[in-house]
Amino acid sequence: MTARLVVEEAIRTAAAVIARSRHVAALVGAGLSAESGIPTFRGEDGVWTKFGEPTFDGWELFNHDPKAWWEASLENAAQYSDFARSLDAAMPNAGHYALAEMEQHGHLAHVITQNIDDLHRRAGSRHITEIHGNRYLVRCMTCGGRDRLSTISLARIPPLCHECGGYLKNDTVMFGEPIPEDALRECYRQAAIADLFLVIGTSAVVYPAADFPIMAKRHGAALIEINLDDTALTDIADVVIRAKAGDALPAIVEQLHGRGL
Ligand code: NAD
Repeated sequence: MTARLVVEEAIRTAAAVIARSRHVAALVGAGLSAESGIPTFRGEDGVWTKFGEPTFDGWELFNHDPKAWWEASLENAAQYSDFARSLDAAMPNAGHYALAEMEQHGHLAHVITQNIDDLHRRAGSRHITEIHGNRYLVRCMTCGGRDRLSTISLARIPPLCHECGGYLKNDTVMFGEPIPEDALRECYRQAAIADLFLVIGTSAVVYPAADFPIMAKRHGAALIEINLDDTALTDIADVVIRAKAGDALPAIVEQLHGRGL
């Protein structure tokens, strides 16, 4: 079989598995947003592959001195890196819209995304856990409340939560920072109840995110991987689609429509 036929066959199989599954969850990574113009960290064109890994002392600094952390992050924002520019310019792509459509038609119960780019919400997905946060929100470090960054006043640094007076921090989870408990709880719940996990555009090396499909598999769930390359989860995937997520996901939706689902 040619590579194209292998992909087409995998897409047909994936649609059939989705159609007979009871509770489908997805773990999404940076690869899904690559076609929206946001570079991945790892992989051939990854930001870290090209420029090396950044320093990871943000969480320590925030704990030690939230005011200094806010000042540093506002200064960094003023420098406006190419990565930040690509995030702000990005629009959802066909893959994001396909996931939203699958949810609307009852074929996808929940998206666990490692992406911070807000593109799932903008594409229309509703049941989303942003396990690494969202660049456009702030989170209260005391009560966990989240708000749009654009709506809070930065006249006072660090800004305070209007509900409980706790320190606000950008919602993006930094290295070393614990994942918010409510997000983590929802991910474990999805891993426990899903009978199918879609693993899309993630190298599956960042934990605990990479664990959820493995936990689901242990409970008997099937795994479908959509990625351009082999990943840490390829060996345990039941169906592997070696294609761009922005091509594969709409093709799966088309197959589901073709089945009248
Ligand atoms: P990663 O950078 O480690 O891996 C990206 C994966 O996507 C690779 O396996 C690559 O083969 C695959 N890929 C690339 N283009 C693809 C495409 N068009 N279709 C399908 N697959 C494709 O990404 P990760 O596993 O998500 O881990 C990186 C961390 O960096 C995450 O925690 C995330 O928070 C963060 N991140 C987020 C964004 C974003 O918000 N868009 C972008 C870069 C990094």
